Amino acid sequence: MADFDVVVIGGGPGGYVAAIRAAQLGLRAACVEGWTTPSGQLALGGTCLNVGCIPSKAMLESSEHFEQVSHGLSEHGVQVSGVKLDLATLLKRKDGIVGTLTGGIQGLFKKNKVEWLRGFGRLEKSGDGAWQVVVEGAEGARIVSATHVVLATGSRPRPIDAAPIDGKSIVDNAGALAFDSVPKTLGVIGAGVIGLELGSVWRRLGSQVTLLEALPGFLALADPGVAAEAHKQFTAQGLDIRLGATVTATKVGKAGVAVTYKDKDGEHTTTFDKLVVAVGRVPHTDGSGAREVGVAFNERGFIVTDEQGRTNLPNVWAVGDCTPGPMLAHKASEEGVMVAECIAGQHGHCDHAVIPWVIYTHPEIAWVGQTETQLKAAGIDYRAGSFPFAANGRARSLGNPSGFVKMLACARTDRLLGVHIIGPQASELISEAVVAMAFGAASEDLARIVHAHPTLSESMHEAALAVDGRTLHL
Ligand code: FAD
Ligand code: NAD
Repeated sequence: MADFDVVVIGGGPGGYVAAIRAAQLGLRAACVEGWTTPSGQLALGGTCLNVGCIPSKAMLESSEHFEQVSHGLSEHGVQVSGVKLDLATLLKRKDGIVGTLTGGIQGLFKKNKVEWLRGFGRLEKSGDGAWQVVVEGAEGARIVSATHVVLATGSRPRPIDAAPIDGKSIVDNAGALAFDSVPKTLGVIGAGVIGLELGSVWRRLGSQVTLLEALPGFLALADPGVAAEAHKQFTAQGLDIRLGATVTATKVGKAGVAVTYKDKDGEHTTTFDKLVVAVGRVPHTDGSGAREVGVAFNERGFIVTDEQGRTNLPNVWAVGDCTPGPMLAHKASEEGVMVAECIAGQHGHCDHAVIPWVIYTHPEIAWVGQTETQLKAAGIDYRAGSFPFAANGRARSLGNPSGFVKMLACARTDRLLGVHIIGPQASELISEAVVAMAFGAASEDLARIVHAHPTLSESMHEAALAVDGRTLHL
């Protein structure tokens, strides 16, 4: 008998959730993880908990408070003076949240009897045709055998030759979460999700932030109406977004980082105190043994799986950022659950058509399903309904009335095809759309559901009514 029914390689949101679900289903599960924090501690949680979702959201929240207290309260009749930033406390709070949550996973492992194999794991074939994982840790190598192996090795920042990371002046997402003083000027290569979120954090804390984006369009992934509104608002906040800008060289000197880039007007050089490189992420499978044992990869370096996470090799599965699809924590976790259930003989399932996206800027941006651009390209006839937060009483009371909700429904069946939000609490509002779409709802279904008053969710209701041209408050 193998040492474990399931060994998961990688303890991020894909891997640790897969291991917990497998254990819940009565399988003997282990998770291999060797992530080491800057203070030298081993930690579970992967990119998401250590240098991704959680620390960035902690800093977004703190920096938003700073901005609100500094500039946003006078319209409420609250006069504040002498506001000061204590960056060390802000960073300590962020680190505390990360520590609590990564420690929490350790607790969940104990509760569910998942064994944490500390170190980095390498998949190998064992002599008897089964799988074995060699775990290289601080105490040497340990070899464990496994009936099933789940590859959940995640992703890492995509490097670019023109701006090599030195960890001091030129940093990736991890470095951008840990500056020990507010850079006076901050350059960010890439106006994508990380660029906008972390650019917003440092702008709110006082940096002059410039985003250099290679594409001529802004936020190409989002609905064009949402992207246009976001561009308008971020620019008004002071983010300097330069589109069509290709960085050709960087030079670190005493004055900071000199960044040379080309755009339609020619070549420019600008010097920043710090530079963040946020040009996307690539799957990370080095050292996992996947290639060596013959796991199939696509041309972009992602592990190829079927819709239930099976690779081309028997009993070898893959989930999360190392597989194709959006690089999102909730996508990774749901795939982890799906794979564990399939291994246990159940019919695991992850509905990839209704995975929500959220960008935690101010205003927040969230969407699920298809954009107008995608529907047009696919030749799908649709009806659109929009409702602005400016006409929503709760948004007005919050002092946050910018943005809108847009719903797209099939012209023939009225089935919801996409919902796009830019505005207050978009991250929470989108869940209603996800549930509706997962159940195959029509816009008429949402239009006939009672929404509490006064709530932001009334904008969802009104946008659904707008699909049929019958908004009540516009
Ligand atoms: P990872 O989280 O990358 O975990 C993989 C783990 O595998 C790592 O801990 C690594 O050490 C380990 N590993 C790799 N190789 C081995 C090996 N051979 N042996 C043992 N262990 C190994 N997503 C969201 O949904 N919402 C957000 O708000 C969000 N914010 C983000 C902010 C930032 C700044 C970044 C960088 C990312 C953000 N993401 C967000 C994306 C999210 O972090 C990833 O999609 C998610 O972490 C993917 O989970 P994963 O388990 O596939 O991989
Ligand atoms: P991204 O794909 O969101 O954005 C990268 C941007 O960089 C794109 O706009 C791209 O056109 C641009 N770019 C690429 N090469 C460039 C170059 N050489 N010069 C200038 N611009 C260039 O990637 P990201 O912001 O690095 O984030 C990585 C991933 O992490 C995201 O795609 C997402 O999956 C995940 N993430 C999610 C969240 C969230 O869910 N809120 C937050 C942060 C990160």
